[in-house]
Amino acid sequence: MDGTDDSLRRAAETAEAAPARVKVLFPLPLFQAFDYIAPPGMTLAPGDFVIAPFGPRDALGVVWRGEAGEDVDPAKLKTIAEKLEAPPLSPEMIGFIDWVAAYTMFPLGSVLRLSMRSGDALRPPQGLIGYRLTGEKPARVTKARQAVLDAAKAAGAPLTAKELAMRAGVGEGVVRALAEAGALSGERIDPDPPFGAPDPDLPPKPLSPAQRRAADSLIAMVEKGPPGPVLLDGVTGSGKTEVYLEAAAAALRKDPTAQVLILIPEIALTLPFLKRIEERFGAEPAAWHSDVSSAGRRRVFRRVLDGSARLVVGARSALFLPYRNLQLIVVDEEHEPAYKQEDGVIYQGRDMAVARASLAKIPIILASATPSLETVVNVDQGRYGIESLPARFGEAKMPEVRLVDMRRDPPEAGRWLSPPVVEGVDQALAAKGQALLFLNRRGYAPLTICRRCGHRMKAPHSDTWLVEHRFENKLVCHHTGFSMPKPQACPACNAVGALAACGPGVERVAEETAERWPNARRAVLSSDTVQSPSEMRAILDAMRNGEIDILIATQIVAKGHHFPGLTFVGVVDADMGLAGGDLRAAERTFQLLSQVAGRAGREAKTGRVLLQTYQPDAPVLQALAGGARDEFLAAEAQGRLELGFPPYGRLAAVILRARDEKLLRECARAHCEAAPEAPGVDLWGPAPAPLYRLRGETRIRFLLKTRRNVDIQGYLAAWLSRVKLPAAVRRVVDIDPYTFL
Ligand code: ADP
Repeated sequence: MDGTDDSLRRAAETAEAAPARVKVLFPLPLFQAFDYIAPPGMTLAPGDFVIAPFGPRDALGVVWRGEAGEDVDPAKLKTIAEKLEAPPLSPEMIGFIDWVAAYTMFPLGSVLRLSMRSGDALRPPQGLIGYRLTGEKPARVTKARQAVLDAAKAAGAPLTAKELAMRAGVGEGVVRALAEAGALSGERIDPDPPFGAPDPDLPPKPLSPAQRRAADSLIAMVEKGPPGPVLLDGVTGSGKTEVYLEAAAAALRKDPTAQVLILIPEIALTLPFLKRIEERFGAEPAAWHSDVSSAGRRRVFRRVLDGSARLVVGARSALFLPYRNLQLIVVDEEHEPAYKQEDGVIYQGRDMAVARASLAKIPIILASATPSLETVVNVDQGRYGIESLPARFGEAKMPEVRLVDMRRDPPEAGRWLSPPVVEGVDQALAAKGQALLFLNRRGYAPLTICRRCGHRMKAPHSDTWLVEHRFENKLVCHHTGFSMPKPQACPACNAVGALAACGPGVERVAEETAERWPNARRAVLSSDTVQSPSEMRAILDAMRNGEIDILIATQIVAKGHHFPGLTFVGVVDADMGLAGGDLRAAERTFQLLSQVAGRAGREAKTGRVLLQTYQPDAPVLQALAGGARDEFLAAEAQGRLELGFPPYGRLAAVILRARDEKLLRECARAHCEAAPEAPGVDLWGPAPAPLYRLRGETRIRFLLKTRRNVDIQGYLAAWLSRVKLPAAVRRVVDIDPYTFL
């Protein structure tokens, strides 16, 4: 209580009135908030963080909106134990969480949890003491003491004894002794220093005329509205970042408390990107990705919540940080599948960002060189605006893209690079350029087969093939994580030395590269050849700095990286993504290969790209070679329109899984029988998952396709509530499903 007349009066009124009831939501898999009583004198509003008894213990929750029911006997209601001092979740944030839960059909509490991943941050470590110089000289100055005094002077701000000792390279005792001697004074410090304020008025890089036009119209939208979504459609290397940073500057300038969020696919969050933003605004942005330490996350969480972190750059989950006053969202590489969260609460980060912007009536910029079909259709239908950058920035030209017909130009037996690709690498190296060999397949070989009996090595209790990782001498399952040392003998027929690797993975291409170009500096970049995100970033940085001659990589390289010296790209298997019945297979192949191709020739030297294919007539490959993106998208869109697929219709998947196959089949039948007939609704399935058995579980899927005007969540709710789910069957709903393996 602050002790003013007003607050005393309010407290007295609250005490006299009937005990106030409030709703509290916990970040747990719960579909609803629960009723509680606020103790006398505690004023609570939606968004307040509270501690309340839940089950056998006290739990951290949030006061939710909505009327607490009057029907429950107050004597049965529990009382809130404590209100935390932290700033509350904003009403807009609460609205967003409600919306996401309703849309994805996941429990409200699970969605709240996305916003409270650093919930313990609300009680940061207390009583942290920082030391600063007093100006007094200690009587005795040893070398160690001098090192501490120097470190304290250099730091400027007070530092903990531990930090000071570390910087000075001495023990903490030296710091304490200096404090006792009066040369240092201790004071309480916050463990999470605020982020520096971004300065939108620092001069940007001089923009090209095309960049200026695009930036000006985005700035006008930020300043004057209307704040709809806008696609920033610029070819790879056109300088989209500089353009959207101007829109960010406008948002920061317009409102001194405004916050701006820039979403980036996880792996593109490299130091150079963060530095580029820091250079523009003169302050380090708050970065949020999987490699940030828990203390770092706590700092970002608290500073986003109190509004002092004004510029956030993060992976998809940064969308759920508790902003105070979010005024602009940028989704860079908006077509990226990395925005789809497939574990826990399943959501499409880009779509949720658009929803969030629309709920909050704030602008959102979607940037890409290969926008998703959904976004392009939204532009065509006038729902989204568009700004285009049709050419690369500065001198850089678009790379030349050609197909290599593998039937005419096959590699030598047992090898994977065709003569034209080998020549391409040779030429790039001779001209002191860098080469990239791209294959979106991890490991050494995708399949290990016995030459004697034909046995295929599979993961136990799964239908997944074991992929050879020669580097570690292991067979690994990429779906279950199972791994085993590569056996000498076939487990089926015991033939020794008969297990053979079939097909290439990046490691096998790396082996061939090492044989062909033994003197080149080579590196392999794939999620399992590197040990940590920071190691991955180190390879990307080395590539950027020209310290690698040939990079052999999976789709990690396709995400927005700028490698100034890269002049040749060879795609080992351009047909790979086209197999399988995925709705987006062709679109995805187009995006991935355009993005990979788009890494080449981004500065003065022109780039060349060769795509190895056995199907040179496939429309998507023709479009890639002909630079015919818009024609390709138009044909794809027509195909989807005819079939009523997204974005012309809605799609949802219901996945059932269980260990007991018979039970699963019965449960699937019950679902079929319970499905209501409804106009504009098609239900397909149950279909077995392509990897039917995974980790001992069997999985099947129903696919629901509806017309756009059908309330697909409403239909699902009605349908699924009619089936009593056995405890041994797990059911997950995936709205707007992408992949199913
Ligand atoms: P995109 O994201 O469109 O592929 P980037 O924003 O990464 O392209 O820009 C490509 C390169 O051009 C980067 O190295 C960037 O620093 C540079 N660049 C873009 N715009 C400018 C500008 N106005 N002045 C100087 N350099 C620029």
